[in-house]
Amino acid sequence: MTTKRDYYEILGVGQSASEDEIKKSYRKLAMQYHPDRNPDNTEAEELFKEAAEAYEVLSDPAKRDVYNRYGHEGLNGAGYRGFSGFEDIFSSFGDIFGDVFGFNAGRSRSRTAARAGADLRYDLRISFMDGALGTTTEIDVEKYALCTSCKGSGCAPGTSPQVCSRCQGRGQVTQSSGFFSISSTCPQCRGQGGVITSPCPECSGAGKVRVQKTVQLKIPAGVETGSRLRLRGEGEEGEHGGPSGDLYVFIELEPHETFERSGDDIYCRIPITFVQAALGASVEVPILAGTEKLKIPRGTQNGKIFRLKGKGIAHLRGYGRGDQVIEVVVTVPTDLTKKQEELLKEFDKLGSKAERTVVSGH
Ligand SMILES: [Zn+2]
Ligand SMILES: [Zn+2]
Repeated sequence: MTTKRDYYEILGVGQSASEDEIKKSYRKLAMQYHPDRNPDNTEAEELFKEAAEAYEVLSDPAKRDVYNRYGHEGLNGAGYRGFSGFEDIFSSFGDIFGDVFGFNAGRSRSRTAARAGADLRYDLRISFMDGALGTTTEIDVEKYALCTSCKGSGCAPGTSPQVCSRCQGRGQVTQSSGFFSISSTCPQCRGQGGVITSPCPECSGAGKVRVQKTVQLKIPAGVETGSRLRLRGEGEEGEHGGPSGDLYVFIELEPHETFERSGDDIYCRIPITFVQAALGASVEVPILAGTEKLKIPRGTQNGKIFRLKGKGIAHLRGYGRGDQVIEVVVTVPTDLTKKQEELLKEFDKLGSKAERTVVSGH
């Protein structure tokens, strides 16, 4: 047996390389020596296996530690034997190739490999107030669940899948053209490796059925349009013991007739009469939790902004609340009685101090 090369040397990284550097370096080598790119090239095959072994050790903190301290001997002593072949490498690291070689469909995932369920999205429209104050609600989520009748196998009771005749159960077919050989998902069994001859009557052989599940949802105060709530494990069920996906609830707030929102501040306009504006007044204004008295000082102008500190929406993350911002709109009466009209004319004759000053300036 020849002396084994140093794992760091194989991957071309230093002893202190980060996980990321190790992964990047391995990916590069794996792409370079990938068997689909180097058909019938035993040298490339060896380099491909060597890189996979180095990566397997250095990407695992425990194994890397043993290797750093005791070298190859240490790993042998700890019972590490490396990979038995390509199948082994692809089932461990298939994901690293992405879809470049189409391995994901077949070799990297044998038909009994655990597979995580897909994430689901649910769009939920809620009232402005529910978003501001938080609420609990229920949503009905449609998803696939394992068929209980066949336990996901897709086969009628008492039967099992036949090994696919086209790919002999590998789930992949290889086509050679010139120097290249291209692996692709077997069209006959669609990568499953087996063919169901008598399908389960419950799920028509799919192994899963569409179900509706009611999910309790707690919406925290302060969510806004675009907020995303994550419910772990409420997505599609995993296959062959894989974990379920997550459910993401996307929030959309309905507009409110009085309030508008900007971040955690809420805005509203309140009308006051010109008499209230001139003389000052105490008016009731709507706030999130009912009403509040607002003091309008004498001589308030149209468009004046008042800010009620801490009367806005609770911050979704952290403590505290936004403010309520109130803009006063001074209204001009349009339906004066005779008497009011006379009084206003009288008022106009007297004029205000400011107007008199301007007039006398001429
Ligand atoms: Zn079934
Ligand atoms: Zn097949």
